[in-house]
Formats: sequence, structure tokens, C-alpha cells
Amino acid sequence: PKEIKNPFILPRYVRVNLLKSTVDKVIEYFQKNNGYELLPPVEGKELAHFKPKTFRKDFHLNDLLVFPANTDFHDHPLYLNGTLILQDKASCFPAHVLSPPPGSVVIDGCAAPGNKTSHVASLMGNKGHIFAFDLDKRRLGLLKRLTTKAGCSCIEPLNENFLEADPNDPKYADVEYILLDPSCSGSGIVSRLDQILNQKSQEENENETILDIKDTSNKLVQERLKSLSDFQLLTIQHAFKFPKVKRISYSTCSIHQIENEDVVKRALESTNEFRLSAHCIPQWKRRGLEGSVEHGRCYFIYV
Ligand code: SAM
Repeated sequence: PKEIKNPFILPRYVRVNLLKSTVDKVIEYFQKNNGYELLPPVEGKELAHFKPKTFRKDFHLNDLLVFPANTDFHDHPLYLNGTLILQDKASCFPAHVLSPPPGSVVIDGCAAPGNKTSHVASLMGNKGHIFAFDLDKRRLGLLKRLTTKAGCSCIEPLNENFLEADPNDPKYADVEYILLDPSCSGSGIVSRLDQILNQKSQEENENETILDIKDTSNKLVQERLKSLSDFQLLTIQHAFKFPKVKRISYSTCSIHQIENEDVVKRALESTNEFRLSAHCIPQWKRRGLEGSVEHGRCYFIYV
């Protein structure tokens, strides 16, 4: 891969698509063909000091590799053939949290463009079935392209509203795992994407006022967050209705408590059947804001 000038200090995370290769083979490829040196996994701030031409296995997730921030994979053969998926670490947690064994029947309720759907398929070794819902036809088209490139053969894309899926439809009778990554404020998307998104929304909304979604003192922002969080809650409550569901992974890319802990809290208050998992990725220590949910048992990722 080329190393480009990049002002951002976030390392470049690369997920190995286990449908195309193994982590060990990919590591060997970079060592033999690209002259990269494998360093031991490290956590947190140590990652900021990355020497050029070195890489590591991620400290927490076993199908993730970490490269210096300025590594460009867009022309790399392993990226072009779908072996490497460019996916930031936070967005790799939900599939690992769900971790359906091969052969499972899964729903991804808000799936497009499909990074997490393809990750779930990778962890399942393409064995089983994933119903991938998305309301947006164009985004679902992207999901089809992305998951085909990744070699996924167990995904059924559905251009449907997840909230209207009938939990008692026989085709969902064996659904045990549901991944929910619903629309959110996007307030937690970090700098390199922030800039791109802001540019895009400026072009798209030339004549409209642009909301700073992090400014929770703004009344319009408060209203937007309230309506997003009501929708997010509905997705979880709908997931509760599937007769055999036993694990739900809920994620957002928001920094706001109202979309995260508060949604989980409200969802738990509305059911007697579900509780927070105490066993989820134990090596990850940051678990939500103290006091807002059952602190210490909840899974929240801050990057
Ligand atoms: N999980 C995706 C990934 O990792 O690539 C990103 C999902 S994005 C945050 C949320 C998606 O939910 C959008 O594509 C949106 O069109 C879809 N969506 C919103 N409301 C929905 C609904 N009621 N039913 C199905 N999809 C919905």
C-alpha cells in the first residue's frame, strides 16, 4: 500500500474478510510482499506512535489489523479483491457483540450500506441466513454491491421497513440474532469523516441552515435527537417481538446519551424478558456512563 500524507492521527483499521482469507495469511502477505513488520498488539494511546511500514493485530478484535494512519489501501490487491474491508474499529464491535455461530438465522434491521452485514456473514462463514432490511433502495443497492464483492452468499437484501416486518411470519421463525444499527445523529463520527459529511451536507443543503448536531443547547437539535431516539427505541422494541430472538446488538455512531444509554434504559424498562449481557467482549473496559444504565454490564464504545 501507498503511504499518503494524512493529518489525522487515528490509525487505519482494516478488517480481514474471513470469507476470502485468514488473518495469518494476510499478515504473511504484508510481510512477504510489502515488507511490513508485525509489531505486538497495543492498546489506546500507544497506537498513535506508529512507525512507517509496521502493522499490528488489534488488541481486542481478532479479525482486525491496524496500520499507520497514512496508509492508503485503495489500490491494494487485497482491498480490490474484497479480502480487506476498510472499516473503523468502533463499527466492527456490533457484529462481534452479536457473534452468531455459523448456521444462525439473523436479522440486520437497518443494514445498508452493509459493512456490518458483511462482517456478520464473515463471522458466520457464510453458513446460515441474514435478512438485511433497508428502507432506502439506493443504499440497499450499495449493500448488494459491497456484499457481493465480499463474497457473501447468505444475505437476503430486503427493501422493507423493519418496523413493519411481521415477527410471526414463518420465515422469521428461526431468527435468534438481531443487529440494530439504526439511523442516528452521526455525532460520534470522527474528524476525517466529519469533514466529508459536512462538505456534503453543505452542498446538498445550500439554502438550508446547517445544524451542529453536537450543540445540545439548540432546540432544533434537541427535537431531532428526541425523534431519532424514539425511532431507535422502536427498533429495539420491535426486535423483542421475534419469537426466538435471544441476542440483540444495538449500536449508533452518536455521542449523545439520549441515543445510547437512554434508549437502552427505556427499552429495558419496557420488557421483562431481556437483560443486558454481562459477558460481552470482557476485554473491552469502557461500558457506558456511570449510573445511566446498569453500569459495568452495558456495552458502549467510545472512540
Ligand atoms: N449498518 C449499516 C452499516 O454498517 O453499513 C449502517 C446503517 S445506517 C446507520 C442506518 C440505515 O437504516 C440507513 O441505511 C437507513 O436507510 C436505514 N433505515 C432507517 N429506518 C429504517 C427502517 N424503518 N427499516 C429499515 N431500514 C431503515
